[in-house]
Amino acid sequence: NASGPLARAESLIAVIPDYPSPGIQFRDITPLLADADAFRAVIDALIAPFAGTFDVVAGVEARGFLLAAAAAIAADTGVVPVRKAGKLPRPAAAVDYALEYGQATIEVHDDLPRGARVLLVDDVLATGGTLAAAHELFTAVGAEVTGTAVLLELEALGGREVLGRVERDIHTVFR
Ligand code: AMP
Repeated sequence: NASGPLARAESLIAVIPDYPSPGIQFRDITPLLADADAFRAVIDALIAPFAGTFDVVAGVEARGFLLAAAAAIAADTGVVPVRKAGKLPRPAAAVDYALEYGQATIEVHDDLPRGARVLLVDDVLATGGTLAAAHELFTAVGAEVTGTAVLLELEALGGREVLGRVERDIHTVFR
């Protein structure tokens, strides 16, 4: 019965008011990650709709790494790190995107097999800017994003609409 561990997993996500700045309700998944049963349950739920549809899992630095690596092991695939600018040692594709204040750049190595099917994962879908940029990045290196999975979606921020312009299959574990 998945609903027991999943319900408990959801209860282990802490909401921190006004972090990192006033007005932001920060979703802290670290208590969930630290719990073996909760972690296993959310990883299984994250990938369940996408069984057999991807060749690698990709996560965006830094919390996305934790989920992507675990999801890759569970799905018996490899993992690809999407990094903040300037961290990758070899030639990489780069995409700039807007943050709430200012902008950021993410990069990926340009060495996936052409047409590789990528499952993109992250903890929180907020404005959708980060995952839309990651989607663009994989398209730029000749891969295909076949799905996006997150634990939580902050629906009021409209990320599903923004990401939906480039991606059809968006899955949220806790709705
Ligand atoms: P986005 O606005 O969708 O580009 O989100 C940017 C990144 O910030 C995502 O990778 C999220 O993990 C993180 N993030 C945004 N808002 C929150 C929040 N309220 N709580 C926790 N993480 C957040």
